[in-house]
Amino acid sequence: MVAMNFVKRLYCAMCGKTHEAGKLWNLCTACEKPLLLEYDLEQVKQALSKDMLKERVPSMWRYRELLPVAKEENIVTLGEGLTPVLPLERAGKMLGMSSLLVKDEGQMPTLSFKCRGLSMAVSMARELGVKRLAIPSAGNAGGAMAAYGARAGMEVYVFMPEDAPDGNIIECDMLGASYYLVNGLINDCGAVVKGGTQEMGWFDVSTLKEPYRIEGKKTMGLEVAEQFGWELPDVIIYPTGGGTGLIGMWKAFEELEAMGWIGSKRPRMVSVQSSGCAPIVKAFKDGAEHAEYWENARTIAPGMRVPSAVGDFLMLRALRESGGEAVAVDDEALLADQKLLAASEGIFPCPEGAATYTALRQLLKDGKVDAGEKVLLFNTGNAMKYPYTFSAPHLKKEAVDYAAMAASP
Ligand SMILES: *Cc1c(COP(=O)(O)O)cnc(C)c1O
Repeated sequence: MVAMNFVKRLYCAMCGKTHEAGKLWNLCTACEKPLLLEYDLEQVKQALSKDMLKERVPSMWRYRELLPVAKEENIVTLGEGLTPVLPLERAGKMLGMSSLLVKDEGQMPTLSFKCRGLSMAVSMARELGVKRLAIPSAGNAGGAMAAYGARAGMEVYVFMPEDAPDGNIIECDMLGASYYLVNGLINDCGAVVKGGTQEMGWFDVSTLKEPYRIEGKKTMGLEVAEQFGWELPDVIIYPTGGGTGLIGMWKAFEELEAMGWIGSKRPRMVSVQSSGCAPIVKAFKDGAEHAEYWENARTIAPGMRVPSAVGDFLMLRALRESGGEAVAVDDEALLADQKLLAASEGIFPCPEGAATYTALRQLLKDGKVDAGEKVLLFNTGNAMKYPYTFSAPHLKKEAVDYAAMAASP
């Protein structure tokens, strides 16, 4: 198998300092901000054409030239990516829209888009000789790392808030991770991982404190471009926690434009958070470069319960450069829309995914989105990982008598 890699260097997104490619890094060694990968896009252009994609695997690994893994045998995959873009005809019409679509990341191997980042991070860990990984997680990232770690035969440590969804706790256990429930939020879990690095000798896979997860999430942007025939939609609405999804897609669009694969037209990027934890929305409205820590973060959507994000300035940059927006929605409203989307469209969105529809209502009302525009929502996961968002006991109906019912239905 051929080694292939077009990574030129890593650079700090804040101070610009160069870090050598092909080595293990966490944050910038000068200013402790996230590192990003720079590719030789001229060479990528020589090596890859749009036509070639037609023959490629139906997963995110079809874009290998734009990804950092050098040796194919290091790729740890469960077939993640290339999730469908589905029209939301009924749900769109209810808002007077003619072109509303959703990219359904609920159809991933571990039922959330976190597969992308963790497939990439675990593949790179394998390539760089790491055997033991640790991650702070609201739940889905931990579950995904348990899965890819199991597949790679690595040791995985997951730290989650004590009220993490049962679905995530079960998958960590079944997929063989060592997991710990922490009496705090994801940031507190992050401190535990950081604190244990020396003694435990694990590699810290915290989002954006590790430079490869974002390269996996970037594939959402590559797929959107390909699936929309290299003409991006007008608006992309995305539920935001650590923000890697938004930042990753924005990076993808930049790279595709530099390669001449798309024009300069970009979607307006919209970040959605819960009104119980909306640091990015607040910073956006305040015109701030960084977000302040959000006290008493509270929301039913665990992926959005992130009181402070190391990549806050990158998210805010992407929102502003795109002419986008940031919207906070109430939990009650997003839960109502979860039910609406499920019953009207047959997809079963996680609360975070449902929040994008709730945000769209607000944007239409405020005149920030026009009903005629092409809008893409991101459903970042499948609701079945979050059984507590729909209380099940009252749904357990009394059994009917089959003989009586067969006789007179
Ligand atoms: C992690 C997560 C998010 C937040 O994504 P970021 O890219 O970290 O902002 C949204 N939805 C779900 C289901 C998640 O698991």
